[in-house]
Amino acid sequence: MDGLYLVEKLERERDLTNAEFTEVLTCREEVFDKYLSERARAVRERVYGKDVYLRGLVEFTNICKNNCKYCGIRCGNTKVERYRLSEEEILACCDQGDALGFRTFVLQGGEDPYFTDERLVPLVRQMKEQHPDCAITLSIGERERESYQRLFDAGADRYLLRHETANKAHYESLHPRAMSYEHRMQCLRDLKEIGFQVGCGMMVGSPGQTTEHLVEDLRFLQAFQPEMVGIGPFIPHHETEYAKEPAGSVELTLRLLSVIRLLLPEVLLPATTALGTMDPLGREKGLLAGANVIMPNLSPTGVRGKYLLYDNKICTGDEAAECVRCMSLRVAKTGYKVVQARGDHVRVTER
Ligand code: SAH
Repeated sequence: MDGLYLVEKLERERDLTNAEFTEVLTCREEVFDKYLSERARAVRERVYGKDVYLRGLVEFTNICKNNCKYCGIRCGNTKVERYRLSEEEILACCDQGDALGFRTFVLQGGEDPYFTDERLVPLVRQMKEQHPDCAITLSIGERERESYQRLFDAGADRYLLRHETANKAHYESLHPRAMSYEHRMQCLRDLKEIGFQVGCGMMVGSPGQTTEHLVEDLRFLQAFQPEMVGIGPFIPHHETEYAKEPAGSVELTLRLLSVIRLLLPEVLLPATTALGTMDPLGREKGLLAGANVIMPNLSPTGVRGKYLLYDNKICTGDEAAECVRCMSLRVAKTGYKVVQARGDHVRVTER
């Protein structure tokens, strides 16, 4: 029962050797996954009880100056119908979200040059003024430190910027030369120093990814100590050079969610839309593997089908209210419950 011993060690010490991490990520014992997810759930319940936090995702622009090789809205994809929500539309999404019980709004988009600090700062201020009990999360890619500072000063609380992969050569293989691993890492450090609650994370099964890369990702998470970690399976998009690449595995994603929960007990960990896209019960399985956050879509239905980072994305047709109803029922079936709370990161666990 080698695998089970490793789960116990990981929970107790929040650490393993590289060889042990590799063993955990590749173990084929049947009882292993069951035990791993049981321990991840126990740790999650010790910190966050049975609560599941909702984050209302507003996909406010699909215009992007970057050309990440895996992403469906990369600038090189000429087949995308581009859109940008107006300030009024974004604020209307937040109003609707507030009425539906959301206490966190996530503004996510491509790196759209239109959204300068001069435009974003007043928007963040207004969101904060109109919804003072809500947290604001930004997920708008790489910017300069000064810009992050302005957005933080305007009232943004959290920032999601996945590191995508902690291995420099792998990062460079997934991105065009104009983007750099160093700058992405610098952004993450800046965000943290400024005082944001920071989320990083990686795609699971991105082209060229090895188990060693994933171990490097885990080491990075351990060193960086993010407040949030977003992971999901890589899913090919037909208008990218990775169109024919295999998608990442649901099983490995679930296993990583559990490992991350044991590594960082207090982390806010979403069961992502990509996971729900690969498996109709993916998000529920994610919650049962240690995740404690769900990010339903609050974008206007008219634009949802245009924010396609990968093929077959789910929930592109439903109204926000319908998404919330559906997710609450799905969550309830797992034995957890959706709560109306900001759901900030806590630091409570004693070692
Ligand atoms: N422009 C912002 C937001 C990116 S979209 C930024 O750069 O941070 C959010 C995440 O979707 C990305 O960080 C990436 O990890 C994920 N993503 C993009 N394309 C994907 C694909 N084909 N399959 C799975 N996840 C993908």
